[in-house]
Amino acid sequence: MTALHTAARDWQLTHGSLIKICIWDDEDNIRARPIGTSIFPTLFSKARFEEALQLQKDYNKLYAAVSEDDTWLAEILRDLLISDPFAKALWSVHLKAKEAGYIQPLSLGIFRSDYMLHQPSTSMASGLRLKQVEFNTMSCAGGTHANIVNMMHHHLATTGLYTTPPSPPNPIHRSALPTTCTVSNIISALATAHAAYGPPRNALATATAILMPVQPFNINICDERPLEYGLWALSPAVPCYRVNYPAIFLKRTTRAETGELLFYPPNSTEPVEVSVAYMRAGYEAAEHGDEGIAARIMIETSRAIKCPSVLGQLAGFKKVQQALAVPGVLERFMSDSHTDGGGMLERIRGTFAPMFPLDETEAGLWAREEAMKVETAGRYVLKPSLEGGGHNVYRGDIPEFLERTPEAEWRNWVLMEMIEPPKLQNVLLTIHGVHEGDVISELGVFGTCMWRKGEGGKAEMVENDQAGWSFKTKADHVDEMSVIKGYGCFDTPCLVEDLP
Ligand code: ADP
Ligand code: MG
Repeated sequence: MTALHTAARDWQLTHGSLIKICIWDDEDNIRARPIGTSIFPTLFSKARFEEALQLQKDYNKLYAAVSEDDTWLAEILRDLLISDPFAKALWSVHLKAKEAGYIQPLSLGIFRSDYMLHQPSTSMASGLRLKQVEFNTMSCAGGTHANIVNMMHHHLATTGLYTTPPSPPNPIHRSALPTTCTVSNIISALATAHAAYGPPRNALATATAILMPVQPFNINICDERPLEYGLWALSPAVPCYRVNYPAIFLKRTTRAETGELLFYPPNSTEPVEVSVAYMRAGYEAAEHGDEGIAARIMIETSRAIKCPSVLGQLAGFKKVQQALAVPGVLERFMSDSHTDGGGMLERIRGTFAPMFPLDETEAGLWAREEAMKVETAGRYVLKPSLEGGGHNVYRGDIPEFLERTPEAEWRNWVLMEMIEPPKLQNVLLTIHGVHEGDVISELGVFGTCMWRKGEGGKAEMVENDQAGWSFKTKADHVDEMSVIKGYGCFDTPCLVEDLP
């Protein structure tokens, strides 16, 4: 190990840049491993970085508007609502809540918009474009890890340990490294929503609290726990409870007839009234058995502010991303305003990479041909509407995958052109060992917002902020990026005018 490796590992260990190992039978010890991290910051275009940050408030507005438009969502998700069990389960929850009548007009969004730089050919460095990989509306993770690794790179840059940058020379100095405060921004958004909920209404409860449903056997506590700790540390404290979802949630939570969601904290016989249900679970299809659906109905029909609502979650489906890219669709949700100098629709549209349905429309039939042919499939990635990494089918694997998938299910997938980012160099400390060489990066911009369902059922923004960023880098031969699943590494962009 070099001095840099040791310094990075020690920083990670002392700051909780870790993945917990849950299945471990020695009660006197705790096991964890460092999360993937880059040794050096990776070069990134300063102009495109700033563009991504600037776009976030408009993206927040767009997805708030989509989240309130169940007519449009029903139309866009029509095929999935017939044949995709996950979409069906979520939609059934929405229908139940709609039938009962939504009683909480406020919604909280903690979003993350992911981008890569697109370089159509190696000779076009000046033509780098910002292209959106996906927009996340549910359980957006990585904020804390991003902060810690960002601080680590600042520290390493300050101590002068970067004497041997990767080639080509990487001009690492602190002024080129942006800073992110994602953790405090998310905490502040949660606290604002908590305050907006107001005092408890139910006679059984004397206090309100944020509830954070989490997955059991949670390996990502280092990303989630600091949000909870930060809420308790505010003055006055904002109580925040984690609860394993859905089993323990169902044991400890009830919904009063008047709609309040009441949670019994451990060791307490008195419930707290849930102000905000901050979902860090419920994003996977497998979590939606009978218990998962029962738990989600309880949340969705309650007075708690949802982060996100079921419709907000569905708005993050890849199928929605593809539908928004169809010419004329953005106009349903937003119009250019004079205050921003106009052109906002074009700026958003400019970040869309070509995406196609795989259904029986004209565009879908064309895309099916592209996907089936070995000669053309290499330009694409095939995506289901699932989250968390590991579900996509890449390039040459697409034709064979489609051959063994029943044709009736093809329409649940979308075909997306591969974004071709410039290859840069770095040293990555991954769970599979050290990677030294070509790498690809992805910028995730966090956005927090709160909106009210207003006139005509439309979203009226109450709060709207850009909330920091995460930056991830992977070896260039790796398709996926999930750091938790061991593909990518947290990183910091080193902002430059021009990439080499
Ligand atoms: P998930 O919801 O599983 O995170 P993503 O759409 O983010 O799905 O895809 C996972 C990863 O695959 C991304 O983080 C990115 O590294 C890569 N990827 C996805 N779409 C593209 C694309 N169009 N071009 C290049 N890489 C992509
Ligand atoms: Mg992703």
